[in-house]
Amino acid sequence: MPYSHLDESNRHKSFQLPGSRPHYNPDRPGQVEHICLDLTLDIPNQSFAGSCTIQLNPVRSGIESLTLDAVNLNIQGVEIDGISHEFNYDGELLHIPVKLDVVAGKLLKVVINYGVDKPQRGLYFIQPDAHYPDKPTQVWTQGEDEDSRFWFPCFDYPGQLATSEIKVRVPEDFIAVSNGELVGTETVGTDKIYHWLQQEIHPTYLMTLAVGRFAEIADSWNGKPVTYYVEKGREEQAKLSMGKTPRMIEFFSEKFGYPYPFPKYAQVCVDDFIFGGMENTSTTLLTDRCLLDERASLDNFNTESLVAHELAHQWFGDLVVIKHWSHAWIKEGMASYCEVLWTEHEYDKDEAAYYLLGEAQSYLSEDSDRYRRPIVTNIYREAIELYDRHIYEKGACVYHMIRTELGDELFNRFVHTFVKDNAHKTVETIDLLRAIDKSTGRNLAFLFDQYVYRGGHPDFKVAYSWDGDSKLAKLTVTQTQAKEGLHTLTNDLFDLKIPIGFGYVKDGVVDVKVTKIRVYEKEQVLYFPLETKPDFISFDVGNNYLKTVTLEYPLPELKAQLKSDPDPISRIYATEAIAKKGNLEAVKALTECLKTEEFWAVRLEAAQQLATIKLDTAVTNLVAEIGDEDAFVRRAIVEELGKLKTPETYAAIKQLVAAGDESYYVEATACRALGGMTTASLKDKQEEVINLLTEVLNTRAGWNEVVRAGAIGGLSKMTDSPTALNTILEYVKPGVPQPLRLPSIRALGAISQGQSETNLTTIVEKLAELSRESFFLTQVSVVGALSQMATVKAIGVLQGLATQSPDGRVKRMADEGVQKVQQKIGSDVAVKQLREELEEVKKTNQELKSRLENLEAKSQPVTT
Ligand SMILES: [Zn+2]
Repeated sequence: MPYSHLDESNRHKSFQLPGSRPHYNPDRPGQVEHICLDLTLDIPNQSFAGSCTIQLNPVRSGIESLTLDAVNLNIQGVEIDGISHEFNYDGELLHIPVKLDVVAGKLLKVVINYGVDKPQRGLYFIQPDAHYPDKPTQVWTQGEDEDSRFWFPCFDYPGQLATSEIKVRVPEDFIAVSNGELVGTETVGTDKIYHWLQQEIHPTYLMTLAVGRFAEIADSWNGKPVTYYVEKGREEQAKLSMGKTPRMIEFFSEKFGYPYPFPKYAQVCVDDFIFGGMENTSTTLLTDRCLLDERASLDNFNTESLVAHELAHQWFGDLVVIKHWSHAWIKEGMASYCEVLWTEHEYDKDEAAYYLLGEAQSYLSEDSDRYRRPIVTNIYREAIELYDRHIYEKGACVYHMIRTELGDELFNRFVHTFVKDNAHKTVETIDLLRAIDKSTGRNLAFLFDQYVYRGGHPDFKVAYSWDGDSKLAKLTVTQTQAKEGLHTLTNDLFDLKIPIGFGYVKDGVVDVKVTKIRVYEKEQVLYFPLETKPDFISFDVGNNYLKTVTLEYPLPELKAQLKSDPDPISRIYATEAIAKKGNLEAVKALTECLKTEEFWAVRLEAAQQLATIKLDTAVTNLVAEIGDEDAFVRRAIVEELGKLKTPETYAAIKQLVAAGDESYYVEATACRALGGMTTASLKDKQEEVINLLTEVLNTRAGWNEVVRAGAIGGLSKMTDSPTALNTILEYVKPGVPQPLRLPSIRALGAISQGQSETNLTTIVEKLAELSRESFFLTQVSVVGALSQMATVKAIGVLQGLATQSPDGRVKRMADEGVQKVQQKIGSDVAVKQLREELEEVKKTNQELKSRLENLEAKSQPVTT
């Protein structure tokens, strides 16, 4: 099919970029039973050497060759069963013609001696340098998805499960951590050999090694070691950030009906990590940026969620392994849903409901702004492209809908069955349906068809009115995502049984009468005969289905819902519908909610909605609540006030920036907001704001540079200020702490938008220079900046990254960045540019022709 920007409905961009194709696991010559790596690290020279031994059980007789994945390794020799073998190696695949008679079931021992010099992927050496003299010395690996082949030869796909063993020799002041249990250490001269053995089978992408001069903090669960490794001096932060791990192991062991399956659980916090976390079997690696200090722990729950997520993978991902990347949602969706389950267990149901709403909103924005795709697909360029909000956040929502359909008891039974039946095996999506059928008798294929195997979700519009004469509640439910004339149940309509609640409030007691209706048409008008008029209406009681919903109810019902609906998500939808009324009555209702609502999340949403009402009292009332006791609510209010840009809001935020806040994030948000306020009537405040933000940059270095990054964010909004631009340029220099440097690089995109042509050139040149740094996160920031620019100059740099970056994620973001820039500058400019380029080519062509003619003239044989 030809590549197209848009899918068949012409409303969503396509997930598939040019070069996408179907992917399958390869044929296998046999079952890998055991992998043993014996390596010696030469840390100063960023190299290592040793051997990889693979025990292979041939699946059929007469196999004549083996082909292994092995990228950029120096292969020194290959032996099979002790006999030296010739091999062909092209830098990507190691091809070994087998000289022996291969007999099915008779183990082959393949030994490959090899080394690697300055590996580009797979295994990473982190060291101090001239710009960062305090950077720790560490070695760590990252296998997922197909990078293990960069550090050892292997059959590198998740369908092959084997036991594994790593012997590694390091200088004796280093600690080496790997999968499974430590079976021994040995000191040899000034070196130490660590010997780790993983006796439970797992795929190559989960094999790991982490080496550093770590502090080791010992904890335990049920007699098994639970260990946190961090750089020395960060022990307190380790406990604050990971200390709940044993309780989480207890919780998930019970939730999955399967005790934690490995001999230990280690978490190693490493520097410059290229993911948030990676669930290597029994040894999770985490970015050291997740380590919290006291003040950050006030309103950062990301670390707790990250710890829960990676731990949940020990069951969903490591014990039960996906057979192919196209089914990665099975593990990523569940690990993300486990963040919700943990929130419910540790805090309460309301917190969990709001967490899930956040997951849904995250998916919804990808769906509307980036692309729509089925959760399961094997069509892509690189598997890493699949690791998006469809498999994480939408996947979590799908698990929640499975739970909703089954109820808690049967859901637990299904999960227990799935884990027990598939432990130490590989799975595909169909195995979930099989486990649901086996354990509960339910067939949820309809749900998977609608939410997993095809893209999208229902967008509901719900209108309500009451007919007092005939005592009928009239509900009109429209699926607005379905296009007129085109829709079918196999295309864009959804067919679900949605619970509708009629709420009655009497003497402070709330009673919700629930009835289920089947929603399956583009528009359905439903009449409910009721004895008395309900106080409020609740569509999708519990809000368990992944959807968007717009409520068109009369204001009194919405107000009653905001006050009395026991479901916080319904109250949140009510705030939105109330704000749409846009009148003084709406301001009053939302202000009251902001003052009296007990659940912070509803206050937060009420604040955001209040800010959308274009009335002065709305602004005044919002300013009055800037000191809300909850840091998340304060953050939201500050962000909204920043958009309103009146002398009143300016004064409030300026005061907050100057005085600071208990929360790093509130302070950062205030800095960001203030920078965005100096337009229109507040234009004259620009110098004052620049001075204030510069002061913040000079004095508020600290945890993960959250506050100073906020100041940079503020400056980046002053798009017509050369001073702001020059300040930001100071912070993209090497030597600036990474957590500040990376957002500064990204900020060049935002600030570019009103700059002069000369400054624009400076920015693009700076980004082009930075794009040559190989560090993944720098490249991501560069792409982030360029993608926000509205100049053709940005396109060339993006295209360079799209073709040259070794990272599939950067390639993809750069390709999407080109599309974004093109959209911004509009087709006119693009055509103009093409025309100019064509002229340029013509000119060059002409010059070349002339030169060629000259040369020909000169080379005429001279006749004498
Ligand atoms: Zn994950």
